[in-house]
Amino acid sequence: MKNDLKQALSKVRDFEDPKISLEQYITPPALAADLVFTAYMQGDIESKKVADLGTGTGILGIGAELIDGEVVAVEKDDSALELAKENAEDLGANIDFLQSDVEEFGKSVDTVVMNPPFSVHSDTGLDFWEKALEVGDAVYGISPRGARDSIKSLVRSSNHKLEGVQEYEIGLPPSYGFHTEESRETPVDLIITKRST
Ligand code: SAH
Repeated sequence: MKNDLKQALSKVRDFEDPKISLEQYITPPALAADLVFTAYMQGDIESKKVADLGTGTGILGIGAELIDGEVVAVEKDDSALELAKENAEDLGANIDFLQSDVEEFGKSVDTVVMNPPFSVHSDTGLDFWEKALEVGDAVYGISPRGARDSIKSLVRSSNHKLEGVQEYEIGLPPSYGFHTEESRETPVDLIITKRST
């Protein structure tokens, strides 16, 4: 099933003209499939309300819908939203798209899936985490390795518990300046948290 998902998600079209300021880059299909499948195995996708924050190409939300999540996908950028809608249609995923800043999103959901901006220059990534911990009972989010401690401390000051951290390496466009001298790959974490109260 995970392989089928990965194959389906490899058909998602990437940003044609990514906006660097919004940190638009696609989650690699293998990682996207891993994230939603991990959530599925923990009972957090099937028949659950799932929010994809900063849906971009739509890949995470589409993945969650294909394995029976009820998905709302939030994105503030017009062209990304158009792309996500086209991708969802092409892959037969029925998603409720919401054009909005993540800050404004206030709906409670069972599960948040996200690959938010990595933000070297701002706190946008952490704002996404704050929102996710507020609206979701379970959170599955990708973040750059360097943000792990900041995210952990956000989790500690919330009513979520850290459930797991899985390490990956992904290729990002060089313009984002995240890879190290030794490698063109960027170390990232899949961070999983659950509400404990
Ligand atoms: N998870 C997606 C995209 C990741 S890039 C994928 O794998 O394709 C991050 C996305 O968040 C971009 O599409 C960007 O436009 C969007 N974004 C950035 N800041 C935002 C905000 N404040 N509110 C909503 N969307 C935002």
